[in-house]
Amino acid sequence: MRDITHPAERLVKAMARIYQYRMTTTSGGNLSIRDTDGSIWITPARVDKGNLRVEDIVRVLPDGSTEGRHRPSSEFPFHQKIYQARPELGAIVHAHPVALVAFSICGQAPDTQLFTKAHSVCGDVGFAPYALPGSNLLGERIATVFAAGHDCVMLENHGVVVAGLDFPDAFRRFETLEFVAKTVIKARALGPVRYLSTEQLANSEMPTPELEEFDPGPASSHERALRRELCEFIRRGYHQRLLTSNAGSFSVRVDDDSFLISTSLVDRATISPDELALIQHGKRARGTRPSRACLLHRLIYQRHPEIHAIVNATPVNATAFSASAARLDTRTIPESYIFLRDVAVLPFEWVYEAPEKIADAMTPEFPIALIENDCALVLGTTILDAFDRLEVLESTAEAVILASSIGEVQPMGEEVIEELISAFLK
Ligand SMILES: [Zn+2]
Repeated sequence: MRDITHPAERLVKAMARIYQYRMTTTSGGNLSIRDTDGSIWITPARVDKGNLRVEDIVRVLPDGSTEGRHRPSSEFPFHQKIYQARPELGAIVHAHPVALVAFSICGQAPDTQLFTKAHSVCGDVGFAPYALPGSNLLGERIATVFAAGHDCVMLENHGVVVAGLDFPDAFRRFETLEFVAKTVIKARALGPVRYLSTEQLANSEMPTPELEEFDPGPASSHERALRRELCEFIRRGYHQRLLTSNAGSFSVRVDDDSFLISTSLVDRATISPDELALIQHGKRARGTRPSRACLLHRLIYQRHPEIHAIVNATPVNATAFSASAARLDTRTIPESYIFLRDVAVLPFEWVYEAPEKIADAMTPEFPIALIENDCALVLGTTILDAFDRLEVLESTAEAVILASSIGEVQPMGEEVIEELISAFLK
């Protein structure tokens, strides 16, 4: 689709989002967009990042003159040098989100071979040695790493710089990389972290077969209501950090053999009812691009008539268990066991080679699974039911990870579990 958002407006909205989710501070971080005429639109120096307005954005013209009421960010030199080194790039995000700063101050870059999607979105991450902020030397050091082909570059004792063909592309990379960093840190608290092999990555990056298209008739009021409800929960899931902007699929059953599912590449923070795909008898509504998970969701709906909603999501704490050999013990508090039961861990390969095995392993009695180095998969009898379980899963995982720094977790005993089952689950 043709992008018609003004660069200044795009930068203001993006900074508000980055600030809202604590991925930068009031004083740190800067964003830029290269315009079609070669001008660079950039966030200003020394203006409150929590309260930026369109008129605060500065335009630096190709001749070096500036337009706007502020000076450009003091880091303008490295933005300019990156654009010079990589003519195809159109947008840059620089910030100091804490998990990436943690890697930066340890002199490390996160390994994106943790997840297929992260590796395809971010590639291999580069590392630029320290230089004085705002200096030409820092600009040269960063641009050298971008010139070698990296799109994400860690800055030693500083933060990260991520670039993309356009702003959504750069933002997606930035958010995905911070997610990887957070997940690795959480998983490290549980023990050694498992990464995907090059062979596993190659097998998982093959395109899924295209579904045939069909022309849907007018939408019923039932379908319209489900579309609205599903979008509300997807946006809520993003705001609660249970989904990232470009990963995770949420679907709801419409009838026996049709369901609505989120579409790929749509921003989960702002998804609207017309951005869902209707799948009917295994075909997709004309012109829609359903999430890749739609084949798996259909298998689950076919096997389990009582299931009406399914979500694949990547909340950081639960996902950390998917990249660790540590088992998520749900016998922590009554709520966790009642909502989650025993959480299965399913092999990574099944997603690509045997989705029917995943569908067989999931039942209404065992509605949650972690898929190795991939995601959490949660079933529900309604959208709210699936969402609720996803929230309980993430809270439980976070509590267990936090407990690991306090002492040994003491799970509820067999008698307690039997009492819970007979009181709530029979
Ligand atoms: Zn900085």
